[in-house]
Amino acid sequence: MTPGGDPWRLRRARAIHLLPHTPHAEEILSFYVGLTEAQESLADRVPVSDWSGLIQSREGEFPRLRVPGLPLEELALPFRDFLSTVAEFGTETIKSGAHALLSRDDDRQLEPLRAALGAWGKAEKTGEDVEDDREEQEEDFYFYARAFLEPIVTSIAQADSSQPTDWTQNFCFVCGEPPQVAVLRDLPDAVGHRSLMCSICATEWRFQRLTCPHCRETEADKLPVHTADSIAHVRVDACATCSRYVKTVDLRQDGTAVPLVDELAAVELDIWAQEQGLTKLRANVLGL
Ligand SMILES: [Zn+2]
Ligand SMILES: [Zn+2]
Repeated sequence: MTPGGDPWRLRRARAIHLLPHTPHAEEILSFYVGLTEAQESLADRVPVSDWSGLIQSREGEFPRLRVPGLPLEELALPFRDFLSTVAEFGTETIKSGAHALLSRDDDRQLEPLRAALGAWGKAEKTGEDVEDDREEQEEDFYFYARAFLEPIVTSIAQADSSQPTDWTQNFCFVCGEPPQVAVLRDLPDAVGHRSLMCSICATEWRFQRLTCPHCRETEADKLPVHTADSIAHVRVDACATCSRYVKTVDLRQDGTAVPLVDELAAVELDIWAQEQGLTKLRANVLGL
C-alpha cells in the first residue's frame, strides 16, 4: 500500500497533476478528482476493526478477507450518503444513475451492493454463471457499488497486506479480486521487479515477468508489448493466446506515477487495445 499516506489524497493529487498533460482524459480525471474526495470521506467512516473481524478468513486461508460477508444493513446509510455526493458532481449519466438509485426504496437501493458482493471474486467466471435477470439489471449500477466498496475494502486491507511468500495467483490474496494494472520497478534485490496491483484494494503482489496474468502464457512471441509515443511510462501488455491485455506502469520511467491513476489516464491505450480486439483483464472503476 502507499507508504505512510492516504491513498485517496495521493490519487487525487496525481489526477490533478496529470490533468493539464492528458487532454484525452480530461473529463475522466476531473470526475476522478471528485470521486476520490467522496471515497476519502467514506474511508474515514469505515469501522475497520468491527468489520475486519466480521470478514477475516481463517488463518492461512486466501483471500484473507471474505468481502461478501460485509454487513449490508450497516452499509445502507453510508451508501445513500455516497450516492447523494456522487449525484452532485458526476457526469450526466452518473448523476442520473445516482438519482435513480436514490429514488428506490431502502431495500432496493442496496441491490447493486448485493449484486457486487454476490459476484465478488468471480470476475473470471462471468459467462459461465451469468446471474438471473435481476442481477443483470444491477450491472448498470455496478459503478456505484464498486466505487463505494473500494474505500471500505482498502481501509480494511491496509491492516495486513504483507505478501504470503508463495503467492503466485492472478487474484488478490487480500480481497480476492483481479488485478487492475501491472507495475515495474527496480528493487535493491530485483531489477525490473514486476507486481500486479489489485483493482479494488490496491494490494500488490509479486508476479512473474513474461507471463500472461490471465492464461499464464509464457512464450515471448505470444506476449506483444504496445507503447504510445505520448506516454512513455505506461504500456499495454497483450496476450495473443487469450486476447487479454493489462496495462503496465513503469515506475523506472516515472517514479512519481501512481499506478491506478496513471492507468486510468492512459485511456488512448485502451482505445488502441480494444481496436485490436483485445479485452482488458479488468475494467477500471470508471468502466474503461
Ligand atoms: Zn484486493
Ligand atoms: Zn493470456
